Amino acid sequence: MSTNHHPVVAIYPGSFDPPTNGHLDLIFRGSRLADQLVVAVLRNEEKRALFSVEERVEMLREAVAGYPNVTVDSFDGLLADYAFRRGARLILRGIRAVSDYEFELQMALMNRRLRPEVETVFLMAAEAYSFLSSRIVKEVIRLGGNVQGLVPPAIEERLRRRLAENRPARP
Ligand code: ADP
Repeated sequence: MSTNHHPVVAIYPGSFDPPTNGHLDLIFRGSRLADQLVVAVLRNEEKRALFSVEERVEMLREAVAGYPNVTVDSFDGLLADYAFRRGARLILRGIRAVSDYEFELQMALMNRRLRPEVETVFLMAAEAYSFLSSRIVKEVIRLGGNVQGLVPPAIEERLRRRLAENRPARP
């Protein structure tokens, strides 16, 4: 929390395609570490996404409606610059398995080099969600599996609808 009357702003960046309960757990925990938490959807032209940035922002806004100190935004360009522009002192990221570590370390070190005043903070994934990723949720939904408990019901519904739209026509 703030020590010298400057509110601590933290940025939680990601793709959130779609947001999962793992993300939401991190948001809840992060909201207790900062005065203001900004969940920021990365506009990444290179990655093919299932949901548009606007849809992801909307899903996140619905999911965090109960947290008064959490806001949702989107950004492009360098995360370090965005964090600096928003006056953030912290970047929040999650670590699930050892496999997350190397990429996260590389990114944190580069962001520190670019903006030394912004610190990256890692939270360990909750046990129940440590295997959970947006990618696996999409895969399970595509194959007709049940994702109840892994994403909020409203997001599960959107996934089903999007899947139905995307299903190729029968020959
Ligand atoms: P990116 O494309 O930046 O990896 P993601 O939306 O996949 O975006 O993830 C954003 C952040 O949330 C990353 O730090 C990732 O490690 C973390 N994260 C993703 N899923 C979980 C989970 N189940 N539990 C905890 N953290 C998670």
